[in-house]
Amino acid sequence: MSALVFLEGADELSLQALTLGESLGDVRAVRFDGPYAPAAWAKAIVDAAGDADIIGPGSDRGNEVLAHVAAQLDLPFAANVTEVRGNDVTRIRWGGTLQEEARIHSERKLLTAAPFAFAPSSSPLQAEVLSPSLDGSVTVVDQVAPDSGGKVSLADAKVVVSGGRGVGSSEGFAILEELAELLDGAVGCSRVVTSAGWRPHADQVGQTGTKVSPDLYIACGISGATQHIAGCKGAKKLLAINADREATIFAHADYAVVGDLHEILPAITAELRKARAV
Ligand SMILES: Cc1cc2nc3c(=O)[nH]c(=O)nc-3n(C[C@H](O)[C@H](O)[C@H](O)COP(=O)(O)OP(=O)(O)OC[C@H]3O[C@@H](n4cnc5c(N)ncnc54)[C@H](O)[C@@H]3O)c2cc1C
Repeated sequence: MSALVFLEGADELSLQALTLGESLGDVRAVRFDGPYAPAAWAKAIVDAAGDADIIGPGSDRGNEVLAHVAAQLDLPFAANVTEVRGNDVTRIRWGGTLQEEARIHSERKLLTAAPFAFAPSSSPLQAEVLSPSLDGSVTVVDQVAPDSGGKVSLADAKVVVSGGRGVGSSEGFAILEELAELLDGAVGCSRVVTSAGWRPHADQVGQTGTKVSPDLYIACGISGATQHIAGCKGAKKLLAINADREATIFAHADYAVVGDLHEILPAITAELRKARAV
């Protein structure tokens, strides 16, 4: 058996997909340069794969490209798989609230690896770059780089200071910004915050936002809804600050502080500044 693994790059989700591919047999890894064109990328993957199984990362792009692959091959596709046993798979649905046992009615497997269900592969990464035929279906008219203001991005940050409804307003995020800057981290938020217009959607962490995997995730005034946890469960450590000692977020936390974030965050920042001044 062999598997063709589609990688977005050397990111963590792609390396996790590689691990899933390696568990199925001999692996050939491919990736793309150039503009994102899911249907064209899928066609190039289908042409390159022959009869091999096709595996991708459980990212937005991974799932979209594999969905195109499945449509082009008219084969079933299982997204966000956590385990494979022959033709049976376990996959997560609804942002991790549901685990589903499914049977694939095909000899060939088209799968994406659920984020953080597999350890990243440590094999030397040698991905072949495929050249999709764009056939005029994708034309690059302009390229606009995200304006990060020189700060580390949410996806790459080693520390994420994230705020929820408890922050209270867009101005309330100033104390999160201050702490994030001190820790060389990035600011994230919950969907309530983006829905209220306090922060842009690019800052949202969760099922319908960015999936982060920092060393430390500081959740401030966030209740811990499953859709939010889906985006931060890859964090190595989670510090939760919440006024409600019954908040669900504490069940996911390595460190818990019960109290008002408007008092606790400035106190942490002041201690950090003091310690660094010594
Ligand atoms: C299909 C779908 C997709 C979704 N995708 C996402 C997603 O990607 N990301 C996401 O975040 N959500 C998502 N949601 C929404 C999610 O279900 C929750 O509604 C949301 O995460 C709640 O945000 P929150 O924790 O900020 O607000 P709340 O649930 O209202 O929690 C606020 C918390 O702040 C605490 N608090 C209040 N004041 C203070 C204070 N002064 N100090 C300390 N703590 C305080 C409260 O005790 C409470 O725990 C999705 C929902 C659906 C249905």
